[in-house]
Amino acid sequence: MQSRPLDALCGWSGRIDEACSGMDIGILGGGIAGLSVALALHRQGHRVHVYERRTGPATMGAGVTLWPNAGFVLQELGVLQDVAAVGGRPVSVQRRDAAGESLGGLDITLLDRIMGYPTHTILRRDLQAVLLDHVARARIPVSFGHRAVAVALDDHGRAVARFENGTHTRPDLLIGADGRMNSVARSFVAGDNTPIYQGFVNWIGIAQADDALVSDIGIQDYWGRGDRFGCVAIRTDQVYWAAAQARPLPAATPATALQGEVMDLFAAWPEPVTRLIAATPARSIQRIAVHDLEPLDTWSRANVLLVGDAAHAPLPTSGQGACQALEDAWHLARYLDGNGCLHAALQRFTALRAPKAAKLAEQGRMFARGLFANDPETCRIRNERARASDPVRDAHAMAQGWSLGLPMADSIEQASTDGAGSLYRL
Ligand SMILES: Cc1cc2nc3c(=O)[nH]c(=O)nc-3n(C[C@H](O)[C@H](O)[C@H](O)COP(=O)(O)OP(=O)(O)OC[C@H]3O[C@@H](n4cnc5c(N)ncnc54)[C@H](O)[C@@H]3O)c2cc1C
Repeated sequence: MQSRPLDALCGWSGRIDEACSGMDIGILGGGIAGLSVALALHRQGHRVHVYERRTGPATMGAGVTLWPNAGFVLQELGVLQDVAAVGGRPVSVQRRDAAGESLGGLDITLLDRIMGYPTHTILRRDLQAVLLDHVARARIPVSFGHRAVAVALDDHGRAVARFENGTHTRPDLLIGADGRMNSVARSFVAGDNTPIYQGFVNWIGIAQADDALVSDIGIQDYWGRGDRFGCVAIRTDQVYWAAAQARPLPAATPATALQGEVMDLFAAWPEPVTRLIAATPARSIQRIAVHDLEPLDTWSRANVLLVGDAAHAPLPTSGQGACQALEDAWHLARYLDGNGCLHAALQRFTALRAPKAAKLAEQGRMFARGLFANDPETCRIRNERARASDPVRDAHAMAQGWSLGLPMADSIEQASTDGAGSLYRL
């Protein structure tokens, strides 16, 4: 399916109530959602074309943690081995306060065993490269330099996406995977695409050294008052990090000043915090004013469907944005299996996915409220609760929440009622 000049528009013979097999599918956005949805729908026998506004593969950003629900989808898509080859296998989350005192943590190996799939940490550029490689091997076309500027219905009620470069596409199904900040598809589906600033900024970076920066492959999460520093190892000598601070929506800071800004803020925090900031190339540090989107009940209009952040952008504090984008891919392919009409498939897909995505978005907001609280008493109570938490119960609760709707959910329910001893059967 090629994008065509606008004057080549002709009538649409397809209908939203026709069977959804062997469709032409156009995807706006070649991020984690767009590429994974492309792979899943291609395997289902559809003809897929990805349109990405960037002129080439993304090299920006730091990393993501792909929890076991994502591991399941990656395995189903046939990309897990390649993710494992460039990613890390974290063993634990260790929480500490800004003085370095332990606030408990999570045994990730236990979570992985409960869910039956691995957690991986990976640089964003590496995940993007793995997905793009599989897309290329499947001969799925990706048109870079295609920024969608509008989606509208033609005279036959079929969606047309127009691109800044003057071309357009009018597929059987148009999928909006164009992210959280200015989704053209979300604007068409929901009538609004305004992201909400949630009151904190992230500085992100990738620290790299000749020698080990941290002692093991894990996640270290430091909680202060209104600020936080999280570091995630891919290898002991390669660690991505996200520093965060509650503040009003900031004006832009020159990129060259960001390392000094974040170093000043976290200078008194325990190691490895300053070591990681210092081991990060200054020019690669980014600052993000963190926004999310209000959950939607309806993810489709006519033959346009939203997936990934365009549908359900949670805060990074949910830890689940990319994982949920991957879940979208797996579920959507099951609904677009050629049985039933497109309209019913899109409705069923949304009915299954929207409640889970909305719950995770809400959890992300709640966690952020506690994390970025400023008054000492709230922080003291938060830290006490974290210290008193039971890591085995937490692993079960996370496994239950994150497996919802996936095939491993039933066995996890069983494992929890059987008690901790049965966990080790996986
Ligand atoms: C600091 C931070 C840390 C995070 N950590 C984690 C984590 O540990 N685990 C996790 O699961 N999630 C994490 N997330 C969330 C995760 O990054 C997102 O949820 C995920 O990237 C969503 O993927 P997406 O493809 O929907 O959107 P995006 O990654 O934003 O991709 C959208 C794509 O669409 C393209 N595009 C945009 N507009 C247009 C247009 N008009 N036309 C054509 N193309 C367009 C963009 O260029 C981009 O390539 C984190 C997020 C942040 C900010």
